[in-house]
Amino acid sequence: MSKRGTLLVLSGPSGVGKSTVLRKVMAGREDMAFSVSATTRAPRPGEEEGVDYFFVTRERFDEMVADGELLEHAEFVGNCYGTPRSQVEKRLESGITVVLDIEVQGASQVKALMPEALTVFLAPPSLEALEQRLRGRGTETEEKIRSRLETARRELLLAPTYDFTVVNDDADRAASELAEILENWDNDPDESPEE
Ligand code: ADP
Ligand code: 5GP
Repeated sequence: MSKRGTLLVLSGPSGVGKSTVLRKVMAGREDMAFSVSATTRAPRPGEEEGVDYFFVTRERFDEMVADGELLEHAEFVGNCYGTPRSQVEKRLESGITVVLDIEVQGASQVKALMPEALTVFLAPPSLEALEQRLRGRGTETEEKIRSRLETARRELLLAPTYDFTVVNDDADRAASELAEILENWDNDPDESPEE
């Protein structure tokens, strides 16, 4: 039987660059799989059903929660998000590293359920840089940008509760640091994180 895969949980404020950094870390890695979440949020241009998210109605989301289909779930700036169990368990068993891009409430639920998970917080170099990136992406209304920035201030306070924090100053550099953290964790998962 193959060694159980690592569960990598990546959190960080909206617009910090989680998707960007993950794309770089996961490129060409057949031993890593992205966990596709369910969400009630509307798709952004270019987002694909079943690739970026499973886009569901609020009724369907509530049904998934009631049926125990989700490993964790949370509300974020007016929408519901959750991790389908089907994205996680079987892959871990077959030795695949499963990557969760989830917000802080979900991450703490996962760490409580699966303490062996590797949790990493991706932080912006500054709040100004975060705002520029969120605006630069051009996907949110002004109201949503403000709510996401307000939420970011609270999320940043939780960075010390993660195993590691990586600053996304330069996306290539941050991706290399994350890949190195993952490799060290896989080689020696019992080693306690750096301070
Ligand atoms: P998230 O998934 O955390 O919400 P994205 O990956 O969508 O964030 O990135 C938000 C925006 O910031 C995108 O336009 C992306 O190209 C840009 N971005 C990501 N990383 C960096 C970086 N290190 N420096 C500058 N811009 C970045
Ligand atoms: P976005 O709407 O920008 O794609 O995501 C908003 C936030 O929801 C991000 O912080 C993202 O990490 C988080 N998120 C995405 N999927 C999930 C999920 O399944 N569970 C939780 N708890 N958060 C999620």
